[in-house]
Amino acid sequence: MSTPPLPPAALVGRHAIVCGGSISGLVTASVLSHHFERVTLVERDHSDDAPRPRKGVPQSTQLHGMHLRGMNILGNVFPGLQEELLAAGGRVLDMTESQAWCSAGAWYPRIRSGLGVGIQSRPLLEWVIRQRVQGLPNVRVLDGREVTGFQTSADRARVSGVHLRAPGGGQEETLEGELVVDASGRGSRTPQWLEALGYPRVEETRIHVDVRYATRLYQKPEGFEPGWESMALSPKLPEQRRLGVLQLIEGGRWLVTLAGWLGQGLATEDDAGFLEFARGLTQPHLHEAIKNAEPLGPIHHYRFSHNQRRHYERMPRFPEGLAVVGDASCSFNPIYGQGMTVGAMQAEALGECLRQGLGGVSQRYRQRVGKLLQVPWSMATSGDLRFPEVEGKRPPAFGLTNWYGDRLQRLTLHDEQARQTFFRVVHMLESPAVLFSPRMVFKVLTARLDTAPQHPAPEPLAARKPQSQVA
Ligand SMILES: Cc1cc2nc3c(=O)[nH]c(=O)nc-3n(C[C@H](O)[C@H](O)[C@H](O)COP(=O)(O)OP(=O)(O)OC[C@H]3O[C@@H](n4cnc5c(N)ncnc54)[C@H](O)[C@@H]3O)c2cc1C
Repeated sequence: MSTPPLPPAALVGRHAIVCGGSISGLVTASVLSHHFERVTLVERDHSDDAPRPRKGVPQSTQLHGMHLRGMNILGNVFPGLQEELLAAGGRVLDMTESQAWCSAGAWYPRIRSGLGVGIQSRPLLEWVIRQRVQGLPNVRVLDGREVTGFQTSADRARVSGVHLRAPGGGQEETLEGELVVDASGRGSRTPQWLEALGYPRVEETRIHVDVRYATRLYQKPEGFEPGWESMALSPKLPEQRRLGVLQLIEGGRWLVTLAGWLGQGLATEDDAGFLEFARGLTQPHLHEAIKNAEPLGPIHHYRFSHNQRRHYERMPRFPEGLAVVGDASCSFNPIYGQGMTVGAMQAEALGECLRQGLGGVSQRYRQRVGKLLQVPWSMATSGDLRFPEVEGKRPPAFGLTNWYGDRLQRLTLHDEQARQTFFRVVHMLESPAVLFSPRMVFKVLTARLDTAPQHPAPEPLAARKPQSQVA
């Protein structure tokens, strides 16, 4: 499942249109620039001259980590991107050497995993990618324009363009193209627009989780060197429902996110409430780190009600000339950090479908995405379905799979090969099938987990001297 560099592609058409200029739309525009003479990317927001959260992506104030599969795709689509992120202040951290990570009450050993993860704010990631897209000679970024519907052929069997206008009103224009890609996010109106054109309503699966995020930036205190650069405290599901993550991002700032399932997120706006929530996490370290640190702004809240998957692959009829990518097709509980990677995987899949030509691409692509989404959807929802209150169909042998998964996760604390395999699955570099190889099953079933040694917690701050911020 690694992503080899793309071979050169042949042009299949004159003009493609991408609706939405966030992560999925930007990656898609770049992929399409190899297949079309011209690409127009239409984005409702105005472009910014610096990395900043923006209205069209309200979640951009929150923690955003990207899985390695996604970073590999971005590296292929935008060669040298990782170096540009580093030059802009991003970092690459080893998953267990640089990150102190406590999962379900046990700390991972602080040894090199060899898996380097890119750490930066979401606005920085998107901004660096946008600079690359704006630099492509055959891509035009049309910002400050909202797509309001599809133009079609007279028999409505083909989408042949989009209608646009300035947000909130103004003169409507029409832009024609041989392929229209909807990358307008979770609130995409493709279902309603297709229905208005006489197509059946796309089937949608929703799994309600009521996840709440609260994120705040802090200045990393001068002289604070705790021996870790980032920290994650994740709960034991389903008994515990809260988590906290601290990441050192560009500008020497800490981005601290506190989150919870089923309404268990932070409910208050004040400093004391934020610290109190952090203090109640499974370990004291994150609270200790921030309790005397200087906040750099307000607490940003985000409420995510449900996982949402639109089954375009099941529609009995679907127009040619249309493809749906990213959150517009599937939006996952953000705690599992899959959304941007799956958006990049869909953009990559669309490019591969175009290699067989423009004819029939919409049908090939929607079938391909139906298959592509199966693994990430089941990875996200099988975590959520562990909570008895979450409604949804449990897969066969769900209890047994959870029992196996819990043992496997405990095994990863002690067994390096199991740890590597598990992390590669989480980062979508390997199929989950490798977790059920005969060797792995044997280890999971026979390991003496109850007597395995515990790895030490990071040293308490009070024991580390000199420290500028020890209370
Ligand atoms: C709290 C939270 C935390 C998250 N954390 C992570 C994480 O750690 N890792 C991860 O991989 N994912 C994470 N995600 C998911 C991630 O944010 C999304 O998967 C990702 O942003 C999807 O990108 P997209 O381009 O498909 O859609 P979006 O980012 O939603 O962008 C849609 C774009 O379309 C534009 N638009 C909308 N309508 C129109 C229109 N009619 N005309 C023109 N433009 C339009 C919008 O302005 C916007 O720019 C998180 C999500 C949330 C809510």
